[in-house]
Amino acid sequence: VPELPEVELARRVLARELEGARVERVVVADERLDAVALGGLVGTRGVKVERRGKWLRLTFARKRTEVFVFAHLGMSGRWLVADAGAPAARHERVRLEVARARWKTALLYTDVRRFGRVLVAPADFEAWSELGPDPLLEGTDPERLHAALGARRVAIKVALLDQRLLAGVGNIHATEALWRAKIDPRSRADALTLPDVRALVKGIRATLTLGLRSQQGDEPAYVQDGAANRFKVYDRTGPCPRCGTNLVKIVLGGRGTTYCPGCQRRIR
Ligand SMILES: [Zn+2]
Repeated sequence: VPELPEVELARRVLARELEGARVERVVVADERLDAVALGGLVGTRGVKVERRGKWLRLTFARKRTEVFVFAHLGMSGRWLVADAGAPAARHERVRLEVARARWKTALLYTDVRRFGRVLVAPADFEAWSELGPDPLLEGTDPERLHAALGARRVAIKVALLDQRLLAGVGNIHATEALWRAKIDPRSRADALTLPDVRALVKGIRATLTLGLRSQQGDEPAYVQDGAANRFKVYDRTGPCPRCGTNLVKIVLGGRGTTYCPGCQRRIR
């Protein structure tokens, strides 16, 4: 499942291919997407590609008018780079063919499960403007996070998945960050002390940075697709890599969570 590092990888690839390029052709092969609005990109020029949390904002321009496309990878979305005119990829939903000088490329958005989004919307599109700070872009201020968590009467793991609190932390990196911070995922969010939150912020940065560093090439590698599991506890069983106690898997807020009962302290 795409999380912040995979979305950042997509941003880099899209920025490289789109910025300064002219959109020549748009093909939409999904009735849930607005083919007319996306088709309006033909003739525009790619200006910039930004990421905030797990959302991407692609800015295109026609003369002085800007058009914004928001994209979310959902559960299984991928942006692939292909030759212009390449046959449709499996599960291809959107194709943007772009040209820069004599160089032509196709950007293919593929999505097996179709939870992803690609849409044209105003610059301040709600899902984008409501996002909390992005831990890699703005950093995470432990004092601000501690104050925000003080109002949450839910398990810390559940609170971390709220994108208005912090943008980009999903199930995998929340699980990893809590293990790194030695905090039991069932701990009440409002019971964490400032030092707990500092440890957690450090854990979030460490796991996201590792995730980013382990992506190579243009295409993300996912554990569920058979890529090597480079995480400390996510999707693992057996002994904790830190203390040797057997890891436990529970369901919290509807999501699977692995933690170590030996070294992750429950804060009440
Ligand atoms: Zn342990």
